[in-house]
Amino acid sequence: MQIPLKVKGQTVEIVAGIDLGTTNSLCAWVHEGTAQVIADREGRRITPSVVNIDEQHHAVVGDEAQERALVSPEGHLTSIKRFMGRSLEDVYDEAKAAPYTVVAGTRTEQCSIRVYGKEYVPEELSAMILAEVKKRAERAVGGRLRRAVITVPAYFDDSQRQATRNAGRMAGIDVLRIINEPTAAALAYGLNHKKAGTFLVYDLGGGTFDVSVLKLTEGVFKVIATTGNTALGGDDFDRALVELISEGVQVEQKPQYRAALKIAAESAKKALSSQDATRVQMQLGDVVIDQTITRPAYEAAIAPLVHKTLASVEFVLDEAGLDPEDVNDVVCVGGSTRTPLVRQELERFFGKPPHTELNPDEVVALGAAIQASILTGDGTGDTVLLDVTPLSLGIETYGGGCTKLLWRNTPVPVRATEGFTTHVDDQTAVAIHVLQGEREMAADLRSLGRFVLRGIPPMKAGMPRVLVEFFIDADGLLKVTAKEMTSGTEASIDVQPTYGLTDEQVEDMIFESIEHAEEDMIAHIVADLKAEGESVIRYSRKAMAERADLVPPPLRVQIEAAIGGLEAAIASGEKEPIEAAMLVLNESTATVAETLMNEVLSVTVAGRSVGEVIGTEPRTRASDIQLG
Ligand code: ADP
Ligand code: MG
Repeated sequence: MQIPLKVKGQTVEIVAGIDLGTTNSLCAWVHEGTAQVIADREGRRITPSVVNIDEQHHAVVGDEAQERALVSPEGHLTSIKRFMGRSLEDVYDEAKAAPYTVVAGTRTEQCSIRVYGKEYVPEELSAMILAEVKKRAERAVGGRLRRAVITVPAYFDDSQRQATRNAGRMAGIDVLRIINEPTAAALAYGLNHKKAGTFLVYDLGGGTFDVSVLKLTEGVFKVIATTGNTALGGDDFDRALVELISEGVQVEQKPQYRAALKIAAESAKKALSSQDATRVQMQLGDVVIDQTITRPAYEAAIAPLVHKTLASVEFVLDEAGLDPEDVNDVVCVGGSTRTPLVRQELERFFGKPPHTELNPDEVVALGAAIQASILTGDGTGDTVLLDVTPLSLGIETYGGGCTKLLWRNTPVPVRATEGFTTHVDDQTAVAIHVLQGEREMAADLRSLGRFVLRGIPPMKAGMPRVLVEFFIDADGLLKVTAKEMTSGTEASIDVQPTYGLTDEQVEDMIFESIEHAEEDMIAHIVADLKAEGESVIRYSRKAMAERADLVPPPLRVQIEAAIGGLEAAIASGEKEPIEAAMLVLNESTATVAETLMNEVLSVTVAGRSVGEVIGTEPRTRASDIQLG
């Protein structure tokens, strides 16, 4: 009996998109072709981003934590996201406003949150939230969540993004990518399927407001402007309602009463999103409250807040140099955009209704799930992660230029081959110098390694056919092989192209190449021309020495003069003079060349030849054989 080596996995892999929100977090995945939010076993789609820690330092997360707000108020931690990857200086005002103690961290540069004498770094608290989200999803689906895309606000800087990544790792999640919340929202609406477009994402959450303008070109979103208010959101709507509810009554200033009022206000607010009026009845100590709040009264109270958000919309459009009519689509994100007044005002401002077809508090997670599924192929986890080469790869050619075999952003695994030949007669070895980067000259590129292909049988320059192959496997490992086709001699090396390079260095290298693009191009052309010119000179001298019978004295003088002119032009390093002098020399040797051409089979063509010359006398001109 045969025992299979590998049983096809029984557990489902959840390749997740996680919206780690300031107020609420949620998890989605692409299942059977559609993006969907994963509700937990109790049917809850949202996990409150809340951690509650008691005196024994026992932490509970989410809804359970919410319930302990009054039991353990000192350890009740909300809006942790505001402190992710920030130093105390960065968040001074927010730290003062927080209902818990934020201190300068002793463990890192980052601020910490002190609870009952113990310090917690924001990213470990966020990790607790992510672990809860992960646990709920795994239980609901009966699978494993190992990999996820996590979203962050567009304005998050490197350290905030890094902190988010770390939080994921601490929660046992392999973070496939950190993406911007507005980009995720645009993905959820499939706006990436359009050819091009300008989109505005309006995100009004619990305690924060963000508005971003995205530009789509060739399937890639770019945030071109973003602004917002870190102290404006649904909480402010709740506060406005607390005022309305407690109008005319004297409520004692007790934390329990304040909390009860806030809870009543939030449910009244949600009711007013779908009803014209709502009745609030409650008893706080001796005080009895019985208020009916109408939608117009509520809207009058929140109108100044909504107008504030529109001022930010105007500002961000201005930043992007756009008018409202330039925006193709407006997307509503965040639970607070369920408020009818918000939608109406956006429609009035843009002259067209915003997208609200998807639940605004779920779109970010849905978009993240779509991104995760794109990154992993089909989302089953069995497929190879689609990745690209971050920088171009090539080899050095005679004269110091670089011939690229693989261009930047080519998806891997990939194989590329190109043919080269020798520069001089009887060259028995060639040096292969593997280079990485976007610039043109070897000296400006990153050297990945060198190896020598030896044992080439002595042949005339241009005759050996050296086939160079670059192969990058799915893990990004590059193998370079060089083979001389007529003799079958072969050599190779393995290199790790991205080893030791940070994302930042990669970006710098690309930027540098754009900056130097023109001068580099010229340098490369000149280097190739010089190499070609030198070969032409060598070839002409050789021909004159070996076949004096073909060169009468007047022609010899003419050729010598042309050689002198080309030498001077090469020394000048200028493109046009070299080209002109080469033309003159070629013309003067034309008759000789013609005769020789009929005699010798090796037709010489201008171009590249591989590596430097090893162990032979330079005697003939360079040539290049291009193999399929
Ligand atoms: P965040 O992105 O800040 O984590 P969300 O997008 O989940 O937050 O938005 C939470 C806010 O949305 C809360 O203030 C909540 O009261 C509000 N909200 C949720 N549902 C509604 C509704 N039906 N009408 C008005 N506001 C709502
Ligand atoms: Mg949000």
